[in-house]
Parts: sequence; C-alpha cells; structure tokens
Amino acid sequence: MTTPENASVAGCPDCAEQVVTNAPNDVVAFYRCHHAVTGHDVAWERSPDTADVPATAELTDTTDRLATDTGGAPLCAVSAAMSRRGWTVGETLSAVHDHRLAGELWEPRDDHVGVV
Ligand SMILES: [Zn+2]
Repeated sequence: MTTPENASVAGCPDCAEQVVTNAPNDVVAFYRCHHAVTGHDVAWERSPDTADVPATAELTDTTDRLATDTGGAPLCAVSAAMSRRGWTVGETLSAVHDHRLAGELWEPRDDHVGVV
C-alpha cells in the first residue's frame, strides 16, 4: 500500500499498528481505541503542518495559536504540534486533561480545546 501524499500517519511503537488518514482527528480516535484495547500509546509519524506554532510553545500557548475564534483548536492539531517536542498522542491528551482539571483549558466542542 502506498501512503497518500498529504495523509496523516500515526502508529503504535509497541505493536506496529498504524493509521493512515486524511482526517487527522482520526488519529485521536485511533489512539483512544488502541489505548483502550491494548494500553499502548500512539505516536505521530507524519502529522499535519503546524509550522505556524513555534516548536517551543507550551501547551496552552500552542492551543491558543491553533484555536479559531469560536471553535477552539482541534485536538489532533494540538497533538501534532506537541509531537515536535517528542510528545505522544497519549501524553498530549493526558496533559490536556490535566490542564482542563486545572481550569486552564476547556472543550468548546468534541475533540476541540480552547484556552480559558
Ligand atoms: Zn499497540
């Protein structure tokens, strides 16, 4: 199988299972499903372009830069940006969860986060 040129690719380092998709939020869904079944984490292999966000940006800053006026930032984009610092999908979702509990981030709609 050849990978479509602009597709997002993510995979599990533990069992080599992989997702190739043109809808990057599918990577988040793949992580949730794979983690629920196996306990494994998932890492981006080819992620959506997040060049507008400095690679050194913290989670809340990254979210703020990727967010639209009304809908927040897609979790997949936040995860893709944070992957440049070596974060897995699971690590990003866990950090988002912690920041939500701390009242720094919220979820304006499914699989989107915004800065409070
Ligand atoms: Zn796995």
